[in-house]
Amino acid sequence: MYDYLIVGAGLAGSVLAERLAAKEGKKILLIDKRNHIGGNTYDYYDHDGILVHKYGPHIFHTNSKEVFDYLGRFTEWRPYEHRVLASVDGQLVPIPINQNTINALYGLNLNSDQVQEFFDSKAAHVSKVVTSEDVVLNAVGKELYEKFFKHYTKKQWDLDPSELDASVTSRVPTRTNKDNRYFTDVYQAMPLHGYTRMFERMLHHPNINIMLNTNYESVLSSINFKTLIYTGPIDAYFNYSCGKLPYRSIDFKFQTYDTDQYQSTGTINFPTSHAYTRITEFKHLTGQKHPKTSVVFEYPTAEGDPYYPIPRPENMEIYNRYKQLALAEENTYFTGRLGTYKYYNMDQVVAQSLTLFKKLNPPKSESLNGRKLTLSA
Ligand code: FAD
Ligand code: UDP
Repeated sequence: MYDYLIVGAGLAGSVLAERLAAKEGKKILLIDKRNHIGGNTYDYYDHDGILVHKYGPHIFHTNSKEVFDYLGRFTEWRPYEHRVLASVDGQLVPIPINQNTINALYGLNLNSDQVQEFFDSKAAHVSKVVTSEDVVLNAVGKELYEKFFKHYTKKQWDLDPSELDASVTSRVPTRTNKDNRYFTDVYQAMPLHGYTRMFERMLHHPNINIMLNTNYESVLSSINFKTLIYTGPIDAYFNYSCGKLPYRSIDFKFQTYDTDQYQSTGTINFPTSHAYTRITEFKHLTGQKHPKTSVVFEYPTAEGDPYYPIPRPENMEIYNRYKQLALAEENTYFTGRLGTYKYYNMDQVVAQSLTLFKKLNPPKSESLNGRKLTLSA
């Protein structure tokens, strides 16, 4: 009898498996229908020996010391700050839009205050920011919105930004300084030996049994367990009884080039041209030295593995119906990007799982002379 059956060996499931086994001595069966651990962060050495990310570029960044320190138990880190250029008007300019972007694009030499004035003169001043279109129009106005966001978003989501929650384009800020980094989080680093190695160390515990190539539905009747943690798509668990939750997928096309470097920075975005959204060169991310290089082109599609929950009100309505069903399910917990239908980054998924772990194992406390004494577990 297992204490826990955990469905999905991505970050959400693996963090819980590790915590429940290592800290609480629970017996865990961790299953995944894929043939590997790591979920969407899975990386591997390709036929040329280049470390690549099977499900698209994964760059770790967080403001949470707790999350960074927790993962740091299973990996050494390689400091890495991601930089992205956008191919716009025949130039490669920094995105998020910043002082350098504006000066390059318009042949100007504005300082930070002047860039703010530039934005103010262009911005649409939307009274209530609700959609992803509102966010960008409000910050930089129509021209830059069309150059950088409107068409990229249409490619990525097959929706106009006006049909998506504000949270989507809010992920990409606007700056008046010269900071060309994609993220500004306190901790920005890559697992020195890759994500898969980090997962191997995380899951190396006598109480954790792993079964790969194993679908939840196929083992449900044959395995005894007390509690279920489910990190797959929540609508699939309930057999789509409240309707199908839409997800966006991506076709990843890998190319190897017989050259040391393909492009000058980790990622180049193509907001207006091409069917793909961006090209990422892995060696920038991993720091690997190799005479050849590998890049990935991302072609968004409606069909395929569910990668992106699509944040918009009608989808939240469907999700909320599933959430009600989930709450009524005994000894069953849903977590992760698919289990809670949230457009979460890796660090948010780790934080969510650590929070669920604490909920499952609240600190033991007892009363002492009327006062509460909390015992550390
Ligand atoms: P997943 O990694 O999807 O794991 C769920 C697992 O459950 C899967 O392995 C799946 O096979 C398994 N599963 C599902 N159903 C079943 C079933 N019925 N039976 C058995 N197994 C099942 N985040 C960042 O912080 N930085 C980035 O740069 C970044 N880049 C990204 C790029 C792309 C293209 C994508 C798609 C995501 C990116 N993310 C990034 C987000 C990151 O991938 C997720 O936050 C994180 O991997 C989610 O972990 P998870 O465990 O919730 O889900
Ligand atoms: N986006 C855009 N142009 C860009 C970069 C981002 O329009 O050059 C929009 C697009 O809708 C995208 C969202 O902002 O889906 C979030 O971008 P991010 O880079 O965070 O996407 P992810 O890395 O999650 O694919």
